[in-house]
Amino acid sequence: ALTAGIVGLPNVGKSTLFNAITQAGAEAANYPFATIDPNVGTVEVPDKRLDNITDLIKPKKTIPTTFEFTDIAGIVKGASKGEGLGNKFLANIREVDAIIHVVRAFEDENVMREQNRESDFVDPLADIDTINLELILADLESINKRYARVEKIARTQKDKDAVLELKVLDKIKPTLEAGKSARTVAFEEDELKVVRSLFLLTTKPVLYVANVSEDEVGDPESITYVKQIREFAATENADTVIISARVEEEIAELDDDEKAEFLEAIGLSESGIDKLTQVAYRLLGLGTYFTAGEKEVRAWTFKRGIKAPGAAGIIHSDFEKGFIRAVTMSYDDLVQYGSEKAVKEAGRLREEGKEYIVQDGDILEFRFNV
Ligand code: GDP
Repeated sequence: ALTAGIVGLPNVGKSTLFNAITQAGAEAANYPFATIDPNVGTVEVPDKRLDNITDLIKPKKTIPTTFEFTDIAGIVKGASKGEGLGNKFLANIREVDAIIHVVRAFEDENVMREQNRESDFVDPLADIDTINLELILADLESINKRYARVEKIARTQKDKDAVLELKVLDKIKPTLEAGKSARTVAFEEDELKVVRSLFLLTTKPVLYVANVSEDEVGDPESITYVKQIREFAATENADTVIISARVEEEIAELDDDEKAEFLEAIGLSESGIDKLTQVAYRLLGLGTYFTAGEKEVRAWTFKRGIKAPGAAGIIHSDFEKGFIRAVTMSYDDLVQYGSEKAVKEAGRLREEGKEYIVQDGDILEFRFNV
């Protein structure tokens, strides 16, 4: 499963958030397939469509799909110099599919700011810089190694791939040297394949989390720190999600009704973790399809662009191996017509084959040979 790694400087609220994630997940359900790793927290992906399908079909059981967050341990500062725990920090980031960068945006004189700086003031931009700089330096090192290999081949042998790679390296290097992430570079279609092959840290999709004070989370747009984080995120085409880790910790153990009540009281319509999960899901290019029978209605996560047999394989490898076709209706059609039978009578039930690209919101029934 694709996972998003939570990073941030010490004392910005990562553990508080991660604990809330772990607790919220543990409360919600028992996931037989969840990763058993103390650094991975599994949460349900909130999806109103699943609730609506359940209302229509009235199955015995409804199972949401899940999403995994990874807690990235290790020391940030000096990581790119390759010292012990710092190395581990970079290695851990290399393994995740997206980065969730938690930034302190709350004032609290009881919570020290870890950074050894001139001021003790909260300074989200400096904090972001500190982490990003380590990632940028690590990427510069990777790039320089690639230069050493590819430069000569490109010049002397005029190898086409090497020439293209060199062009990409030439594009990335000045950006990194200017202290900016490689994700800010605009690449051509043919360059993207090369970019992926470089496995850089600063090309991974990112989202910023502004961790605001529990007193301000109901009206976050008035917080200067939030504005700063948003503006920076925009330079990387990244989203900003506002949460208060402390609030998340407080509501993690509540049941759904109590949670809703608590959130309403502080002026929120959904929990920060729910919001974060949905944005991370989108960031990773994930979609949801459903299976819907009388016994069970269930949501499944897929990577957008996947074809029907691959989607079937998410449920069971036998479904993929023996795939014949997928009986398909869209969520919108089910809601409009009210039942599978009515969808069929309206001529909207489709039989899709091996080449069908599964769409977000599809309700699928796989036919396969055993
Ligand atoms: P980490 O080092 O990034 O994992 O940070 P922690 O989660 O351990 O948080 C550091 C300190 O900040 C703890 O004392 C938290 O209780 C506090 N803290 C975290 N989030 C919030 C918040 O939203 N509001 C306030 N006031 N304090 C917070």
